[in-house]
Amino acid sequence: MLNKAVFLDRDGTLNEDPGYLGDPEHLKLFPETGQALALLKNDYNYLLIVISNQSGVARGLITKDEVEAVNDEINNQLQKFNVKIDAFYYCPFHPDFNSKDECSCRKPSPKMILDAAKDLNIDLSSSYIIGDTVADVRAGQNAGLKTILVKTGYGSDSFYILQKENYLPSFVAENLTDASKFIIKDFVE
Ligand SMILES: [Mg+2]
Repeated sequence: MLNKAVFLDRDGTLNEDPGYLGDPEHLKLFPETGQALALLKNDYNYLLIVISNQSGVARGLITKDEVEAVNDEINNQLQKFNVKIDAFYYCPFHPDFNSKDECSCRKPSPKMILDAAKDLNIDLSSSYIIGDTVADVRAGQNAGLKTILVKTGYGSDSFYILQKENYLPSFVAENLTDASKFIIKDFVE
């Protein structure tokens, strides 16, 4: 049997986005993150998969170890909500510094989503992506997911761009709680 998943952007969606976050001590989850994720995973059985562009690595601003330390800290901080991210995927490349081939993982490419779907046996048509940027929504659309734009992070600006370019997401949410409510309602109906 196939799994269903909620793919999650990281910075600006789960946590505040200070730009090129490399120090786990600077990680600040949004206040609603733990509860929203626990609901999706523990009550509705969605796998939680982070899909993140981390071009700070290509730019020499942060290391892969630092990206992974921040990822570990997310799960540390989620422990008190009795939930954890099942898998983290990130793309460390950027077209200014890396080949086209290397950058094939970078959102809006659906590659990380498709890789995760293969690794974890996920049915994309019953899965979602939640993110705050145009690249998140486009990656989800490219992978055949239902897409949710959150207005946290860069979300408000992204909404106008998506609207202008006619790439509207399935739902626009105030934050992760609002996004999780949409998924649950969609699930029940
Ligand atoms: Mg983001």
